[in-house]
Amino acid sequence: MSESTGYERCTKCVLSKHFPRIKFDEDGVCNYCRQPNTIIKTEDVIAEARDQIESLFKNRDHTKEYDAIVCYSGGKDSTYTLQLAVQKYNLRVLAFTLDNGFISKAAWNNIERVVDKLGVDHWVFRPNSKHYAAIAKASAEHDIYNKKTLTRISSICNSCISIVNTTALKLALEKDIPFILAGFTLGQIPINSIIYKNHQKFLAESRAASMEKLRQHAGDFVDQYLAVPDTLLRDLENYPHNINILCVENVTEEEIIEQVKTLDWRSPGDVDGCSSNCMLNTFNNYVHERVFDYNPYEMELSHLIREGLLTREEALTKMQTQPREMIPTIMKKLDIDDASIDKVKWIYSNQK
Ligand SMILES: [Zn+2]
Repeated sequence: MSESTGYERCTKCVLSKHFPRIKFDEDGVCNYCRQPNTIIKTEDVIAEARDQIESLFKNRDHTKEYDAIVCYSGGKDSTYTLQLAVQKYNLRVLAFTLDNGFISKAAWNNIERVVDKLGVDHWVFRPNSKHYAAIAKASAEHDIYNKKTLTRISSICNSCISIVNTTALKLALEKDIPFILAGFTLGQIPINSIIYKNHQKFLAESRAASMEKLRQHAGDFVDQYLAVPDTLLRDLENYPHNINILCVENVTEEEIIEQVKTLDWRSPGDVDGCSSNCMLNTFNNYVHERVFDYNPYEMELSHLIREGLLTREEALTKMQTQPREMIPTIMKKLDIDDASIDKVKWIYSNQK
């Protein structure tokens, strides 16, 4: 049971032979697909999380200005999250979008239609574009994150999502908002992250190494986007809950699209198959594939296949739908070249 069976990719999911610690059996089925019992355990944890979410929302403090911040990228998953928050849970919501300068026109149009249709307040934060580019460049050209983190997500996406999370937390602490909702699915986050409270000091410690590397390669300004000031952290009891409500919904992608269409959300034609909002995504995938030889979406898509929420063919189509013609323009804009990406490939290949 090894690569000698000649399979390029698992015949059940879409994990490739380059995915860490993968082994195929004679039929080309990978060890991740063959792991027994995980589904039953998953169902228990999801049911428990569902009860906890309902109870947290039911017992919320009705005197607050907002019940929840929804991190809203304009993609279908975060649109559905926003829709559930408003229409299913009746929360008073502040939608928050990080404008990284790469959100597609079609996605912006969706964002505007959806927040209007749902009648929610919307807050947009656009970081200094030079700062954002420097963070993206450092993330692509250096070993900022460990290999395990990067089995689920590309390095630039990870930095960008860290900016989203940090900004949302700062906003929640400033405005005393008890819940931060995001549209992650179980293929994107570990199952123990459906509901969690930020322990900022612990989080800062766990991030210390990557923050130090980011400061070194991008500049000291990174703290402005990725650190929470101590002045906001005095009241440790008041940390908001982070909740990914989509994880407890048993819906297929088709059903999500059907739902968000009722808000006039339209499928954007100008981005790749794995992201319905960010034009940087294809480039991030390109960097990840060049460094690690597999697509950063394989793990998420494979999870959806095993849960019966996506077919293998749909997943393959998504990974192949990449508007690669944009890559040279983006590389020029971010001042990144292939030689420096290959240097980081060499660094990671020498790590365990
Ligand atoms: Zn598999």
